[in-house]
Amino acid sequence: MAGTSSPVPQVHVLATGGTIAGAQIQDRARGYKAAAFSVDALIAAVPQVAELARIDVEQVAAIGSQDMDDETWLKLAARTQAALDRAEIDGAVITHGTDTMEETAFFLNLVVRSEKPVVLVGAMRPATAISADGPMNLYNAVAVAAYPEARGRGVLVVANDEIHFAREVAKTNTTQVGTFRSTHRGLAGLVNGGRLHLYAPAVRRHTYRSEFSVENLTRMPRVDIVYAHAGMGRGLIDAAVEGGAEGIVIAGVGDGNIAAPAQRAAADAARQGIVVVRSSRTGGGVVERNIEVDDDRLGFVTADELNPQKARVLLMLGLTRTRDVAALQELFYTY
Ligand code: ASP
Repeated sequence: MAGTSSPVPQVHVLATGGTIAGAQIQDRARGYKAAAFSVDALIAAVPQVAELARIDVEQVAAIGSQDMDDETWLKLAARTQAALDRAEIDGAVITHGTDTMEETAFFLNLVVRSEKPVVLVGAMRPATAISADGPMNLYNAVAVAAYPEARGRGVLVVANDEIHFAREVAKTNTTQVGTFRSTHRGLAGLVNGGRLHLYAPAVRRHTYRSEFSVENLTRMPRVDIVYAHAGMGRGLIDAAVEGGAEGIVIAGVGDGNIAAPAQRAAADAARQGIVVVRSSRTGGGVVERNIEVDDDRLGFVTADELNPQKARVLLMLGLTRTRDVAALQELFYTY
């Protein structure tokens, strides 16, 4: 359990939009608009954060996270790194939509070089909703970012009183506040009204021990995800190749399987030097090599435990360093 250390910690808040900054368009209206409020308004709604840390803020983007893209990731990585490199900053909080939060969190987990806590936070209910979850989530996120023992644990996601590791967390429900789950290796901890309970550290390499850097990049390699299903043909894989994908992640059925015509298309792609990663659409488990698919012969990589969207992030970063299939497979066992 923790309070805050003395002198008062300083937390840098980077805002990107999302439902946490969302507003109902009209009173009692059903819909809402993400990213309607500025970061200053978000902080002003939770004056209690001043008890935890001194806050400075920066608006990096104002989007629903369904519109998160490579360019914004590169900008966010640079701005987060710049904040953490300042000696007086103890940690960073990033406000973000929940739809793609797990992807952004994992991306930053692989490219930000710092032991200081980086905490992504969002909300399932817009700021104007009854019982909005954003203010408490934001308060808890600042508490985690300000807490010295949260250092060295990689990028974290805070929501619904839970602390998740970037690698483990996934959004699992369209609307409920308990949407985030870490099914494989469990929670990083709990945070109750700003009081932290941290569990075992992250198992895989991240942040300050990561080999990836996006410092000089202006674009990322294109990696497409192709979703498998009964009766799958080769069309979507061929379309990804024709569209210029450098890598293809297959959200396979079961243990990362795909129907024979699609597998032939994937093997053709691999022969052309396009990296094919087999992941699973099941939402859990390890995709093992060479079980029903002869990965060694076909030149495929398997995603280990990563879900398709996180396998895509790791493959994009992997392709900035190598196209060697064995080396890329090793990355999936390391991160
Ligand atoms: N569509 C929103 C977003 O990801 C949903 C949310 O934030 O909960 O930005």
